[in-house]
Amino acid sequence: MNIKTTYYGFPKIGPNRELKRALEAYWKGSITRKELFTEAETVAFDRMKAGLDAGMDVIPSNDFSLYDFMLDTSTMFGVIPKRFAGIDDTLDRYFAMARGSDTAIACEMTKWFDTNYHYIVPELSGTFKLDKNRPLYSFKFAKKQLGIVTRPVLVGPFTFVSLSKFEQIDTQGDNKPVKVWESDRFADIVYSLAGEYNRLLKELEAEGVQCVQFEEPSFVMDLTETDVSVILQAYKKMTANLSTLRVAVNTCYESISHYRDLVFGLPVAAIGLDFVSNEENLKYIEEFGFPANKKLIAGVVSGRDPWKTDIAKTVDLAKFLAGCVGESNLVMTNAGPLFHLPYTLKAERGHLDDNVMELLSFARERLEELKLIQEVLSGNKSVPHSQVDDIRKSFANQDVQKRVADIDESKISRHHPFSERYKKQCELLKLPMFPTTTIGSFPQTAEVRKIRAAYKSGKISFCEYDLFIKNSIDEVVKLQEDLDIDVLVHGEFERTDMVEYFGEKMIGFAFTKNGWVQSYGSRCVRPPIIYGDVSRPEPMTVDYTVYAQSLTGRPVKGMLTGPITIVNWSFYRRDITKKEVVYQVAMALKDEVRDLEQAGISIIQIDEPAFREGLPLKKSKQEQYINYAVNSFKLTNMDVAISTQVHTHMCYSEFNELIQAIYAMDSDVISMEASRSRGEVMGAFEHFDYDHGIGLGVYDIHSPRIPTVDEMIDVVRRAVRVIDVSLFWINPDCGLKTRGYEETIAALRNMVQAAYEMRKTTAS
Ligand code: GLN
Ligand code: ZN
Repeated sequence: MNIKTTYYGFPKIGPNRELKRALEAYWKGSITRKELFTEAETVAFDRMKAGLDAGMDVIPSNDFSLYDFMLDTSTMFGVIPKRFAGIDDTLDRYFAMARGSDTAIACEMTKWFDTNYHYIVPELSGTFKLDKNRPLYSFKFAKKQLGIVTRPVLVGPFTFVSLSKFEQIDTQGDNKPVKVWESDRFADIVYSLAGEYNRLLKELEAEGVQCVQFEEPSFVMDLTETDVSVILQAYKKMTANLSTLRVAVNTCYESISHYRDLVFGLPVAAIGLDFVSNEENLKYIEEFGFPANKKLIAGVVSGRDPWKTDIAKTVDLAKFLAGCVGESNLVMTNAGPLFHLPYTLKAERGHLDDNVMELLSFARERLEELKLIQEVLSGNKSVPHSQVDDIRKSFANQDVQKRVADIDESKISRHHPFSERYKKQCELLKLPMFPTTTIGSFPQTAEVRKIRAAYKSGKISFCEYDLFIKNSIDEVVKLQEDLDIDVLVHGEFERTDMVEYFGEKMIGFAFTKNGWVQSYGSRCVRPPIIYGDVSRPEPMTVDYTVYAQSLTGRPVKGMLTGPITIVNWSFYRRDITKKEVVYQVAMALKDEVRDLEQAGISIIQIDEPAFREGLPLKKSKQEQYINYAVNSFKLTNMDVAISTQVHTHMCYSEFNELIQAIYAMDSDVISMEASRSRGEVMGAFEHFDYDHGIGLGVYDIHSPRIPTVDEMIDVVRRAVRVIDVSLFWINPDCGLKTRGYEETIAALRNMVQAAYEMRKTTAS
């Protein structure tokens, strides 16, 4: 059997983050523009070469970007918000849109579907004008450098517009950003872009391009009938009057919506479906068949998870699909772009445990897997023996598994209702009205980072390190007392990152040396890898929390990262359900909560800033996620005493749709971001009677600006119109680790002042 292979979305940052370094050097002014372009071209060349070397049959082009592919698409079609129009130089303007300039604030950045990649949100005016044919440039580059005919990859018109917004004047005369997808101009805007794409395709055709691939992940969202008809019309317009050029449409992250209408109805030569992330696509093919005049580009190796592909199983899948669509109509590819994965596993040899290595496969290895599957299908190779099952068994922990299996989900709940708990807690903690607190971290100075790194690399002893951390705690406790904050924190100086810190202390987590994944622009993250059953060999936070508490008569909050956040910000196992992984982490944290409580800590905060991120794209799958996400939080603290106060923290603004779930978490107090999107957040509370303790952030910690007392009072006043005064806490939006001390102290001083004033005016 002879099945072709292709791939797309290979990591753009380079094997050793070369692009990141070049970008940052250019922004600092230490390299020239020419040097930046030379480095970028090297990375772009190497990543195409990687595909060629791996023996891929079709090599993509135009899937590299200097900063972000959505931003590339915007600038390609002249989608430039007015505030940047004065910048004539196109590169300066491009970076200004991404990062802001002296005169204009940056475009908004948001998460790409349910991934950890962030794109620059296009701000549309409604018209498009093809300004620079980027795919044409990229196609020519590949032809010249490598002598090959590539397949340009582009963001599809429907996805592009569905992720955009525009400014609209509201009834009060204010400019308000509107999601284009939710507006009545949506269809017209998609058609207008499709028209420009048609021009672009004709230019490509004239240059000898044979096939173009459009990325349309928005096709997996819950589409309406109207959406489907918009898509079909837009594609008709976009592909009109092409003679030789073929168009492929690719989807990923979930199953395609309206399978029959789109797969049969789209006027294109090939359809890409993801067979890794979901089970529906396979069922659709079985049930409805596949059009005889189209090719199927089947995503069969994961672009999102770092686990080695089960070759035998995937060979069977490919055989099955070939049987459905015909051997010559099947092409194998990755499911989801490969940039969600680190560049290559080879960089981890000698660093990661050999057995853990055996379980993994990164972007470069995905290409090798595709090739191997192709060769097994053609009879040139046989399925290699897999050690994965044996290794998995060696990482199993029966006690952990049993503990999770024994959870009775009908009994995950605290032993007393909130009203009784809160009354007891207030008596015991003796807190004033409008208690003040912070979210956990205090500024992480260069010195703190240096000492932590020195300890990690063995340059200083544990004693030296420990002394330094304790001194920092002494200072921050004293500072908070001087500021007269009511509930203190220890400052989190020992933590580089709120997930990494816990992952490193638990069994079942691995950390790569070079496993960088692009989060946005030049920013990369190294997600932990949860590879085995999770357990906690010893307390993780008790020492420093107890130490901080020993210094003061005021309560110090224990500070933990919640189970759903730990899992959502890691690569997690797929051989068991996500729910099981989350529950394993929850049980480990439950032990930590118990230990903190037994050590005399009376307030424990369990942060869940990533709660919303794990929400499945399809509505039909959201309820199940919300259930176990809420349960996992409750599992961690269900058994604490009535008098132990549980806090949580979340920081994003779009939680209207989740307010019910957040309430169901039943934490005694929640602190959440509110200052950046006041109107929206308050709106949620107008419609929902939130009767647990709550602190809506009174100032934005993302800015160095020091808010005035009055501004903060203003936030509180608006909040207490819809929230009971006896439940309201006063705190910043998020942790302070990215701020400097000077502005932090000034801002907190004003915050405490605001609390004083509120107490005075509310009591009288
Ligand atoms: N406790 C953490 C901190 O203050 C919370 C961080 C977050 O919400 N992302 O840094
Ligand atoms: Zn936060």
